[in-house]
Amino acid sequence: MNKRPTAELAPLLECDVPERMPVLPLMSTIVFPLGVTSLQVRVEQSKALLRDFSDPDNLIALVTSPAKREQEIRPEDLSRVGLAARVIRILNMPGGNVQVTLEGLRRIEIIEIVSLEPYMMAQVFCPTETPGDPAEVRDLVNRILKSLRALAQLDKTYPPELDNIFSMNLGDPGLFADTVASIVRFPLDTKRLIVETLDVRHRLEIVVQAIEAEIARLTVAEDVVRRTSEQMEKGQREFFLRQQLNEIRRLLGEDDPQEMLVRQILERAEGIGLPKHVLAVVQEETNRLRYLPPSSQESGVIRNYIEWLLSLPWSRRSAVPINLDEVARSLDEQHFGLEKVKERILEYLAVLKLKNDQKGPILCFAGPPGTGKTSLGSSIARALGRACIRMSVGGVRDEAEIRGHRRTYIGSRPGKIIRSLRDSNSSNPVFMIDEIDKLGHDAQGDPAAALLEVLDPEQNQHFIDHYIEIPFNLSETLFITTANVLDFIPPALLDRLEVIQIPGYMDEEKLEIARRHLIPREAQENGLAATDIAFDDAALIKIIREYTREAGVRQLERAIDNFCRKAARQRTTGYTGNWKFGEEDVEKVLGPPYILPDRPEGRAEVGVATGLAWTTTGGDLLVIEALKMRGAGRVIVTGQLGDVMKESVQAAHSYVRARAEMLCIDPKLFDEYDMHIHFPEGAVPKDGPSAGITIVMAIASALADAPIRNDVAMTGEVTLRGKIIAVGGLKEKVMAAHRAGIKTVIFPADNQKDLVEIPETIRSNMTLVPVAVVDEVFQHAFAGVAERIAELEARANRRKERAAERAAQKAAQTRKTTRGGSRAVRSVKDGRGNGGRRRSHGREAAKPR
Ligand code: ADP
Repeated sequence: MNKRPTAELAPLLECDVPERMPVLPLMSTIVFPLGVTSLQVRVEQSKALLRDFSDPDNLIALVTSPAKREQEIRPEDLSRVGLAARVIRILNMPGGNVQVTLEGLRRIEIIEIVSLEPYMMAQVFCPTETPGDPAEVRDLVNRILKSLRALAQLDKTYPPELDNIFSMNLGDPGLFADTVASIVRFPLDTKRLIVETLDVRHRLEIVVQAIEAEIARLTVAEDVVRRTSEQMEKGQREFFLRQQLNEIRRLLGEDDPQEMLVRQILERAEGIGLPKHVLAVVQEETNRLRYLPPSSQESGVIRNYIEWLLSLPWSRRSAVPINLDEVARSLDEQHFGLEKVKERILEYLAVLKLKNDQKGPILCFAGPPGTGKTSLGSSIARALGRACIRMSVGGVRDEAEIRGHRRTYIGSRPGKIIRSLRDSNSSNPVFMIDEIDKLGHDAQGDPAAALLEVLDPEQNQHFIDHYIEIPFNLSETLFITTANVLDFIPPALLDRLEVIQIPGYMDEEKLEIARRHLIPREAQENGLAATDIAFDDAALIKIIREYTREAGVRQLERAIDNFCRKAARQRTTGYTGNWKFGEEDVEKVLGPPYILPDRPEGRAEVGVATGLAWTTTGGDLLVIEALKMRGAGRVIVTGQLGDVMKESVQAAHSYVRARAEMLCIDPKLFDEYDMHIHFPEGAVPKDGPSAGITIVMAIASALADAPIRNDVAMTGEVTLRGKIIAVGGLKEKVMAAHRAGIKTVIFPADNQKDLVEIPETIRSNMTLVPVAVVDEVFQHAFAGVAERIAELEARANRRKERAAERAAQKAAQTRKTTRGGSRAVRSVKDGRGNGGRRRSHGREAAKPR
């Protein structure tokens, strides 16, 4: 900090200054005339300068630079006006730095830098200062003195008689401005400007403005401090008044409503036996509540939070020990079939029982809608005597939906997990999480990660909801997840799951489910006795085939409900008998059938192949049509296909092209004809690779003009080299073919292991043909294979004869023009020309391998 000059030093302002002076650049220190300042010097150049000019008789030029580091100082950036100064003292510091004390004398102006080494030397002169109008200058000086008084009052770190300190320099307004600037805490840039300003009036103006800015800053700061302390005082005052009011109320025998509320909360908390750590939080929150006005927003937030803590089932268990016989009985009682599924559930529970904890994988029931996934979960819960909660995470994109919002958000509340647990009022329910294959995610976080934490037995003992903030023990909860397809379950989640596949029912199974479970249940739900309603098998089969298209039984259940409602209505009109619905009643109750059964084509046709598709509702026929038309070899595909299916079409087309010779397809057709491949039911999106062989057959049939059998359906993915690879859903596909009256199903040999899943009655009624390569499919699917072989052979022979004729003619011509035979002629004689080779390929195509 600059020290105040003494009066005796004033003549120094007029000292002589040499024409050439060494330049000491300054960055963060500003020295004013007659001010004494100490600073640290680190760079070698400056140290050398100080060594050479340490004598107080040698003057040096102090010039400011905007550089941030000494090494970056450049001569061209130095300010024009500086200060002549002399060295008062030099101290060598540890670490090689030098501390120098300098005294500023008078302003100098740099004409030019004359040398840079070993330090900067400049040619300088002493500029004359412009004094300004005396009256204006006086006014400014008075304004400065007044402001200084105000400043000293606001900022107690300045001496109270700040204005008096400067009155000694009043005779020299320029020096007065410099001295004020050296003592008042101005920003560095303002100080630099003051040094550089030679016009005294202007210099005084800068000083006035700087002091006034400082006063304004201090006034705002003081205002903030004052208001904060006022608020605190108000709070304290309210607190004391409230205390006194309580005391008065107590003396009058009345109670403070807030205090009563707090007492009620604490009594409830103790009454329901909250765990200690939760009770401690409730107590802490009620303490905060005591000192808040009841109508305040914060008080509402705290009451809401406490209410959540009190309503959660922290340790409310509802369970009977696992009795496997009881579970088995309950599962059998409520579900027909599903033997494998029931067996796996029992095994899972047996392990739980033996280990006596829930630290195992989480069950995941995967299968189409309406196949009993939820109802299996409820049966398990019932048999275990536990509450059952269902929560769907389909479409959940925000992590906060699972784990809650922090209390700082307005309208925040716990996530779905905690809300469901509160509704179940049990800490160990069976918790079904549905549709985990339909979880979404976006910028709001990944709900799958939150779900992973919920399901992980290692972590869920201390599950923390963002709103509740106290760990909740989920390790006693039995989680069961459900999904329609496994492909869309996030892999990390799938890894934790023990998947139990529920494949979907055949018509016969649906019939049994309806008879044993759906009809009695729906009758009861409609206010009738379970035995009041019965159906003929033919009626049920008609409902199943013509009014429902599903792998499960949900639509069937709804249809039966329709009959029961009609019956209930009749009952209310006085009918006392039972009902037995026959096939003829179905249309009367449900209206005309709206599902047309799948039927294959009426006869073998060219360019039409019957494939099999696997959908969420089970299996379906998928007819594929191919049509060739004059064009330029383009492949057109229609019927709402996904990318995989479009690629299958390309691969199939390429494959048929590669096998053209063997199929006796004229290669020119590929260039001269366009091929249009259409997948009917264009409104339904389709995808997947399993239609590969069907597409190959449709294309091959269209190009070779060979009809395809209408009683054959096929499924299989094809590689470019014609290998057939395994597909999914064989059971559903074969069942769909069987329903449609198809006799032969061609399927990938790799899928033979899946045949056991198909009921024996169906297997023995159909011809199931495993194939490994596409060429085998040609033999089974083309209609009239024997006739076809004969036709192909005849065609190949005709071609061979024509080729031989042409070759003979050519040979005769060649003999005329040249002497001696050529190789070509000989080869025709030997029957080894091109025609011969092609014929052998033709045979290969026609003969079954
Ligand atoms: P999901 O959860 O798989 O979509 P649900 O469990 O809701 O299907 O089942 C739909 C209806 O079908 C329920 O009423 C259920 O009881 C019944 N259901 C499904 N499968 C069977 C079965 N094997 N035995 C008896 N009822 C069944």
